[in-house]
Amino acid sequence: MLSVDEALARLLASAPPATQIEVVAIADAAGRVLAQTQVAAEDSPPLDNSAMDGYAVATADVPEPGTWLPVSQRIPAGTVGTTLRPRTAARIFTGAPIPSGADAVVIQELCEHAPDAVRIDHRPSPGEHIRRAGSDIMAGSAILAVGQRLRPQDVALAASVGIARLPVYRRLRVAVAFTGDELTMPGDALRPGAIYNSNRFLLCSLLDRLGCVVSDFGQVPDDLSELRRVFCAAAAESDLLLCSGGVSVGEEDHVKAALESEGRVDIWKIAVKPGKPLISGWIGGDRRQVPLIGLPGNPVSSLVGFLVFVRPVVLKMQGAQWITPPAYALRADFDWLQPDARREFLRVRRNPEGGLDLFPNQGSGVLTSAVWGDGLVDNPPRRVVHRGDVVDFLPFAELLS
Ligand code: AMP
Ligand code: MG
Repeated sequence: MLSVDEALARLLASAPPATQIEVVAIADAAGRVLAQTQVAAEDSPPLDNSAMDGYAVATADVPEPGTWLPVSQRIPAGTVGTTLRPRTAARIFTGAPIPSGADAVVIQELCEHAPDAVRIDHRPSPGEHIRRAGSDIMAGSAILAVGQRLRPQDVALAASVGIARLPVYRRLRVAVAFTGDELTMPGDALRPGAIYNSNRFLLCSLLDRLGCVVSDFGQVPDDLSELRRVFCAAAAESDLLLCSGGVSVGEEDHVKAALESEGRVDIWKIAVKPGKPLISGWIGGDRRQVPLIGLPGNPVSSLVGFLVFVRPVVLKMQGAQWITPPAYALRADFDWLQPDARREFLRVRRNPEGGLDLFPNQGSGVLTSAVWGDGLVDNPPRRVVHRGDVVDFLPFAELLS
């Protein structure tokens, strides 16, 4: 059986990287992956301006607190004043350009206003409350890197130097399908022997959160020829196929056989718990072959398999550069005395004391564990955990964003 790291390395090595680029308005760019590093053509701020409401002065004109100066001009944001006349002050507002001749702004709270004059009750130092041109961004500097998923603040930074459109990678098209004759859609009556298809909602929303275009091929019966047909149809119109269920060794598990007849199997079975029977390969029949990852049907196996294996593949195929989620070293406030020989991903929750509590039932069908929990402990094979030990914690908040 492949280790988690070997399997992940193989999956990533064979995942085709993003190539196709489209240009979108910055209003539509948040959540997309930047396809070319952006360089600022302009300084930000574009000119020296006031950081506060107050009075622009030449520091030499205010040798001591209590100095009176006539107010020679008024400069609101959006207007450019004139050169400051010597031994006068300019009334100035936040964001307004500093007039030439001034080298400091005294905040209005430290001034006594009178008609046409001001008493400065403070000795300013040069540069005080002035935001220099280029102090945020210098023209010519790289502001956003290729492969970055654009967050609201990234888009705002582009806007702050006048960039109106951004090159991003085309959205990844992911097809999903769900095997299992027992599956029923919520809303339909549950016949004897059936269960609700929860993975459909799990996988579709996970992919949606990653910014993929999802084509849902719905439920496929546990039937090889039907599975082959649906997989080939799905492959024809997507970049990646994801399915759940039917990846084990039972006679009713047909995903492996479908891959063998319409493509090829690359990986089957990984030393991970939950999620061991995960399968991957290529599918498409006579036409274009696309990667397929088949997740085990148990809901927690599907979730962990997605977060550990599918997510990095999706990120790479989207062109995103940062793939490995950071693990946080936290204290286990639980014992885990019978570890598996496989690497385990345990559902845990941070407690107010800064440690981690373990959900008592770690069964791969117990979806409640993932709802109660706020992350996973990444536990190496056979590692016994004693209360107080430090373990690697992966928060859902980071894995799901
Ligand atoms: P399988 O991987 O097909 O052997 O299924 C393993 C377990 O997961 C079985 O108990 C299935 O009933 C269950 N299961 C399979 N697919 C789904 C699904 N889409 N939603 C919820 N449970 C599922
Ligand atoms: Mg099944």
